[in-house]
Parts: sequence; C-alpha cells; structure tokens
Amino acid sequence: LAEKLQNTFKKLKGKGKLTEKDVTEAMREVKMALLEADVNFKVVKDFVNRVKERAVGGDVLESLTPGQQVVKIVNDELTALMGGTQSKMTFASKPPTIVMLVGLQGAGKTTTTGKLAGLLKKQGKRPLLIAGDIYRPAAIKQLQVVGSQVDVPVFTMGDKLSPIDIAKAGIEHGVKHGNDIILIDTAGRLHIDEQLMDELIGIKKTVKPHEILLVVDSMTGQDAVNVAEHFNEKLGIDGVILTKLDGDTRGGAALSVRSVTNKPIKFVGMGEKLTDLEPFYPDRMASRILGMGDVLSLIEKAQTTYDAKKAKELENKIKSQQFTFEDFLDQIEQMKNMGPISQILDMLPGAAGKQLKGLQVDDKEIAHIQAIIQSMTREERQNPSIINGSRRKRIAMGSGTNVQQVNRLLKQFEQTRKMMKQFADMSSNKKGSKFKM
Ligand code: GDP
Ligand code: MG
Repeated sequence: LAEKLQNTFKKLKGKGKLTEKDVTEAMREVKMALLEADVNFKVVKDFVNRVKERAVGGDVLESLTPGQQVVKIVNDELTALMGGTQSKMTFASKPPTIVMLVGLQGAGKTTTTGKLAGLLKKQGKRPLLIAGDIYRPAAIKQLQVVGSQVDVPVFTMGDKLSPIDIAKAGIEHGVKHGNDIILIDTAGRLHIDEQLMDELIGIKKTVKPHEILLVVDSMTGQDAVNVAEHFNEKLGIDGVILTKLDGDTRGGAALSVRSVTNKPIKFVGMGEKLTDLEPFYPDRMASRILGMGDVLSLIEKAQTTYDAKKAKELENKIKSQQFTFEDFLDQIEQMKNMGPISQILDMLPGAAGKQLKGLQVDDKEIAHIQAIIQSMTREERQNPSIINGSRRKRIAMGSGTNVQQVNRLLKQFEQTRKMMKQFADMSSNKKGSKFKM
C-alpha cells in the first residue's frame, strides 16, 4: 500500500499546478490502492470523498505546492480514520484493573497477554495473568512460559473448572496478593461461534472487566474487521490490539477497524518477541503508510499559501533575465507577509534554497534594502546598469544608507539574478515546473 500511494503522490508532487482532473485521477489511484490493501469498501469511499472535497475546495489548487497539500490532506484524513490521537488503556480508580483479552484462535491472545504484562510491569504495575483457556491443549503451559519470561505470576486451576470460576478465583487471588492489574487470557475458536460468545459473556458478567481488548490478526485484512464488528456487537469491546503488523504489508485492517467498529486500536504487535508490543499512534501509522516520515513537517510549512499567478510571472521574468529591482521589492514585501526569511528559504527547492540561505539576510538588512530600492528612480530599478557613481551617492543619501551598502546591494542583486536564472534553466531541463518540492 505504501508503495502504491507513494507512486501516486510522486506524480502529484511533480506537477507545479494541479487541476481538478489531476486530483480526481490521483484519488482514483488512491482508491484502488486502498481497495487492494483490503480496506473496507465503504471506508474507502467515504475517505476518498472527504479528501477530494477538501482538495478541490479552498485554496489548495491555487497554491504554490498543491501536490504537497493534497498529500497533507490524505495524511490528515488517514490519521483521523484511525482515531486521530492515541487511545490509552483505562485503569480502575480502585485497583485491581481487570482486563479480558478475547479473540479467535491464533490471533495472538496468549502471546499478547504476556507482552502487555511485560509492558505494564515496566511501567511499575504489578500484573497477574489468569489462564482462562481450558480447551486448547497446552494453552495453560504456554501462558506460564510467557509469564515467566516477563517475570509475571500466572494463576491457573487446570482445565477442570469452568473459565468463569477460574476467573473469579483468580481475581480473588490477585486482590489478596496486591496485584493492581489482572489480565485474563481466554479461549478462542477458529471461527466465531455462539458457544464461545456465551462463555465470554458469562465471564464478562461475573468479573465486570474495566477493559475488554479484542486481539485480531492484521494479516487477515477485512476478516479481522468483520471479527471486530461481530465481537463488538455481541460482547462489546473497549479497544483492539492488532497483532502481526510486522508481517502486514497491506495495512487494510489497521485502516478500517476504527471506522467500522468505532473502537480504537490501543496496541499493535510488531513481532514474536515479548517486547514487540507498542502503543498505537494513528499519526505515526499514517506516515508509515504514506512512507514519508519526517517529510510531514515540511508539508506543514508548505501550507503557507502563495499567489500562484504572481509566481508564474516571476518565473518567466527570471528566465528571460528581466527580473528587476521592482520585482525584487515586490518579493521582499511578499516575504515580509509570510514570516521569517529562513523559513521561506527552507521551502525553496533543494539547492536553490540552500544557496540563497548562504546570503543570510536578516530583517534589519531587509529594511535597508527596501529603502535603497525605494530611493531609485523607476528607470534605475528596471535597468540597474545605468546606476553610476553619482547615482549611487544620491541613492545612498536618499535612503539613509552609505555608498558601500548601495554597492553591496547592486552586487548581490546581480549575483542573485544570475543564480535564479541558472536555477530556472536547471529545473526546466528537468521538465515540469519550478517551485515544486
Ligand atoms: P492465541 O491462540 O490467540 O492465544 O494466539 P497465540 O498467542 O498462541 O499466537 C499465535 C501465533 O502468533 C504465535 O506463533 C505467536 O508467536 C504469533 N504472534 C502473536 N503476535 C505476533 C506478532 O505481533 N507478530 C508476529 N510475527 N507473530 C505474532
Ligand atoms: Mg491462546
């Protein structure tokens, strides 16, 4: 999924200006990529519509970096789709907190029970595990092994009593021994069946858990989402733990679970080791899916809108070496509206931004530059080569600067003009427009 989306966005970002058609086309590709990633159909449809609406509305298409902005919108909406912010576990105000881990066979309940206990222990809690799966051969032994690996006690009563009685006895044991969080590992089935649900409902009624966490295997894609929907309807869940995300290349379950069930993903399993459990962060997952990491902060910056038409005019002037002091003045005024110079230079494409940054213009200097240019006649601004010695003196007088400062500006202007021309030629050789990132 990440790769498909990246390709789509590469195309978008390569364009200087976008039309509504470009966005529609890109969204068609995003839609296909999501469907191929096994994201729920309705989720995809709503998602694409939301992005499209935001992308063609507002100033996005008119802005200097429309491609970036569309990517940013996609990123925002992906994050929102997965719940927006991190959802933490609920702890009881009066310990112990009781947590039931439920799910189908093989989803990763027993392993995750151990992982979660380890995580909680590191946070200073005193967990107790209860072995509630009395059906699967060796299930109790398995929990005892993971328990000892994370150094957390395991309560068992063999497989003769009902899971409800075991859970009840386990909690009493935990209360007596000062455990502040009790995790109940339950049985699963290969498929959802009523008997399993009834048993889980029975445990729920008896122990009144603070959290029922559903463990689902992310590699099963939409099946995982269906399972979540079913468990939520029958039993009621408080959150989802998505396991085997390390092997999930598609991301379909991660993207759909929240919006289908309206229940948050709280943790993700990232491997077989008992340390491979992490809190789930929607924003990080979104950037993982988009494969862009810290490029995101750059996109935030690109949000500053900028008059695209003026930029185009300027671009043509630069190319034909017609860039004058008047344009320069214009630029300075625009930049002043946009914020600190260094930030704008950061937004300029690659090498050009770095070169310009070398000039190190500070805001006081800009005031001088502005004064100098304002003291020039119209003719001088448009044709700086006529500015001889006596004109320089006059300009310095008029602007409250000295001749050295005027000389320096003239020199800098000539250099900048050359550099801009070079850069403009360079990027038109690369095809496509300037001012892209
Ligand atoms: P249960 O039947 O739901 O209790 O599932 P288990 O805890 O027995 O896990 C089933 C298998 O999935 C085991 O081989 C685990 O090692 C494996 N497993 C669980 N979580 C993860 C995970 O996050 N990543 C990977 N790669 N494997 C996992
Ligand atoms: Mg198990």
